[in-house]
Amino acid sequence: MKLNIRHFLDRWVNSGDCLLCGLDAGPHHNLCNHCWSSLARVPQPCVLCGLPAPQGETLCPRCRHRPPAWQCLRAPLVFTGPTRRLLLQLKFSERLMIANAFASRLWRELADSEVDVLMPVPLHRERLFERGFNQSLLIARQLAWRLDKPVDHRSLIRTRATSAQSGLSRRQRLDNLRRAFSYRPARHWRRVALIDDVITTGSTMNACCRQLLKGGVETVEVWSIARTLKEDS
Ligand SMILES: [Zn+2]
Ligand SMILES: [Zn+2]
Repeated sequence: MKLNIRHFLDRWVNSGDCLLCGLDAGPHHNLCNHCWSSLARVPQPCVLCGLPAPQGETLCPRCRHRPPAWQCLRAPLVFTGPTRRLLLQLKFSERLMIANAFASRLWRELADSEVDVLMPVPLHRERLFERGFNQSLLIARQLAWRLDKPVDHRSLIRTRATSAQSGLSRRQRLDNLRRAFSYRPARHWRRVALIDDVITTGSTMNACCRQLLKGGVETVEVWSIARTLKEDS
C-alpha cells in the first residue's frame, strides 16, 4: 500500500470510537451514523446567511433585501446540544479528532463547490499565542485534504485584537472589526472558501470577506460547521 501523508493522518486521527456515544463509529469516522444523524440541522437554510428561509425559497427576506458580500454560506448544523459541546471543546483543546469528526461527515456536501483555496478566519497573534492553535485552521486542514485543495493561512491576517469590545456600541464594534483584518496574498486567488467553526452574527465573516474582495478575490464562499439560529447582533 502506498503510504502517504493522507493515509497517515487518516489512521492517526481515527480511533474508530464515536466521540458522543463511545460505540464503533466505523472506518474514517469519529461520529457514528446514529449520533451524526441526530445532530440538529438548520431547516431549509437560506443560501446566503444559513438561517431558515421561507418554505420553497432559497433566500430569506433579509438577504433578498440586503445580500451579504459572499456568494454562499454553508453552515449546516445548529450550534446547540452535542454540536455546541464538541465545538467548544475544539476551541479550548487541540483535539484533532473533533475537527475530523465534523470534516469527515461534511466534506462530501462541499465537494461540488468550485473554490481554489480554503482560508481559515485568522486569530490575532496574541490570541494564537495564548491558545496555541486556531480551531478554524484545524477544520480547514481536515476539509482541505479530503477535497484535495490547498489551505492558505498566511495571506489573511488579523491585525487587531477585537475581543474587548463590550461597552462599545454596535456601530463601534463593526467599525473595529472592519479594520481588524488585512489581506496580502503571496499569490492571486480567485475563488476562496472562508472557514470558521461557528457563525453567530456573520460580522467577522463580513469583515474578512470585504478584505478578500478588495484584494482581488472574485468569489467568496463561507463554510462553517454550525451557526446560531438567533442573530445576536
Ligand atoms: Zn455515536
Ligand atoms: Zn438569508
